[in-house]
Amino acid sequence: MVYGLGIESSCDETSIAIVRDGNEVVSLKVYSQIETHSPYRGVVPEIASRAHLEKINSLLAVCMEEAKIQFLELKYIAVTGYPGLVGSLMIGAQLARCISLVHSIPIVLVNHLEAHLTVIGLENELPAFPWLGVLLSGGNSSIYIYKGFGDLQLLADTNDDSLGEAFDKVSAVLGLPYPGGPYIEKEALEYKRPKGEKNPFPKLLKEDGPEKIRFSYSGLKTAVLYYLKSLTEPPPIQKISFYFQQTAFELVVRNIKKAIQKTNIKTVVAAGGVLANETLRSVLLAESKTAPFQLYYPQKKIYCTDNGAMVACLGYHLWKEKKFVGLDFKVSPKRNFEQII
Ligand code: AMP
Ligand code: MG
Repeated sequence: MVYGLGIESSCDETSIAIVRDGNEVVSLKVYSQIETHSPYRGVVPEIASRAHLEKINSLLAVCMEEAKIQFLELKYIAVTGYPGLVGSLMIGAQLARCISLVHSIPIVLVNHLEAHLTVIGLENELPAFPWLGVLLSGGNSSIYIYKGFGDLQLLADTNDDSLGEAFDKVSAVLGLPYPGGPYIEKEALEYKRPKGEKNPFPKLLKEDGPEKIRFSYSGLKTAVLYYLKSLTEPPPIQKISFYFQQTAFELVVRNIKKAIQKTNIKTVVAAGGVLANETLRSVLLAESKTAPFQLYYPQKKIYCTDNGAMVACLGYHLWKEKKFVGLDFKVSPKRNFEQII
């Protein structure tokens, strides 16, 4: 049996996990800093680093206790090295170095975005590569061609706001709490669309042909703002939330179809915080049946959020490939870390 430790501290979740054989979660703890950052309606890097520092050791202790194992039984320590907030990444990195130094356990450095995709390995046998990796989160709206562990090629990216960011900004103008995703989702689900009613927001990037695959959500945010300005009555929050989601998700589906067309890859793995959205999940599922493509997304919502289990899961495969790093490894805010070290 191979026990691995996963450490995640790239943004606003502190998380530790112990995973067996790369696919079985023995213990997982996630401490979300949402409440700490919510007065600022966004993640404040300095506060995030301090909050990680305060929590990380106690999460580790609880996980070790729950797993009923000793440090010496760990075969590897997987830690998120990039991308993320550097001050936050450093907290996880330092913990990894300490345990590694004291117990002589190898460290593997994990790409946070890749870990979001491989987390499906905790719920399914991993499909054969290549995959289309669709990342929709607070910091990303992108599609990767995922060819093998550590081998990701960016196919499509956002020009401006990520999808999660759009949810968060639109929720702010609607007077909903932070982070906006779950609140907009709730409002949208309550909306009873009158038959024949038109979407008040324009189709996004409709000028793009089949070759051009990209995301851009700042236009939708502006459309919501203009719509609000045009009103003389209190804003219909449920209606705006409904059509915001419809418009935003239509672009996701269109881009996935284009990516399949362009690459002929029919395995699609969607992940990241926005995949917690039930409407998005069912839209993608319906598309996968008609398009068709093999769709995976994390079934458990905790695996959509940043978590240590996804880090330990990817870490297992890197450990098998002996992709160890020395104690002097660096962390980085960049996605293509290999290009900067
Ligand atoms: P992450 O960057 O992966 O930590 O995900 C956080 C982002 O996901 C934030 O922008 C949230 O607003 C968004 N998010 C979380 N839950 C939902 C949801 N149910 N629907 C849409 N977006 C969500
Ligand atoms: Mg987060």
